[in-house]
Amino acid sequence: MHKLLAGIRDFHERVRPTYRERFAHLALGQSPDCLFIACSDSRVVPNLFASTDPGDLFVLRNVGNIVPPCGAGGVDGDECAGAAVEFATLEVGVRDVVVCGHSSCGAMRAALGRNEPTQTPNLDRWLEHTAPSITRLGIEGTLDPALPDVDRLSQAHVLQQLDHLHTYPVVHARVGERKLRLHAWWFDLANAQVLAFDESKRMFVPLVDLIP
Ligand SMILES: [Zn+2]
Repeated sequence: MHKLLAGIRDFHERVRPTYRERFAHLALGQSPDCLFIACSDSRVVPNLFASTDPGDLFVLRNVGNIVPPCGAGGVDGDECAGAAVEFATLEVGVRDVVVCGHSSCGAMRAALGRNEPTQTPNLDRWLEHTAPSITRLGIEGTLDPALPDVDRLSQAHVLQQLDHLHTYPVVHARVGERKLRLHAWWFDLANAQVLAFDESKRMFVPLVDLIP
């Protein structure tokens, strides 16, 4: 907590003057063009590796960057992610949705070891949403075989979440109308590098190589 409080003081004394005008403008409303869905992991810092400012990203973070699929009556069990998806697309009007997984993800590791007894019933139920990703891991032929299982699952999981996003009527319709694009990203912690799924190559490649 000490570092957090020291950071608050530093922001107040050193950073706030620079951002005060920007926040005064943002107080009137937001117009981010991207919904960024990432893991809660402390090492994944979208504002740092994407060099974004306040107002640039509408962010959803949860354990394992999970987007539960939407059934006919909505999401079964936890509405948080679905609410963010619907709010971002309909109310905020984002044009892009990024699902960003990462290497050495504890949620993916826990998902792979779900047969072991735990004292975490809520986490266990939440991670049941990774079952389709584990199935996909077994059939997805384009993932880097050199990666450890937890990282290959994390990449398969990101692709699976894009499929889940399509189960939301508002997303499916907007993608069909070319008003919304979906992106699969993956942050390689050890190399501090963002990868993106290249549809033409059907594999994750450094994102900077795809930027025109
Ligand atoms: Zn994670």
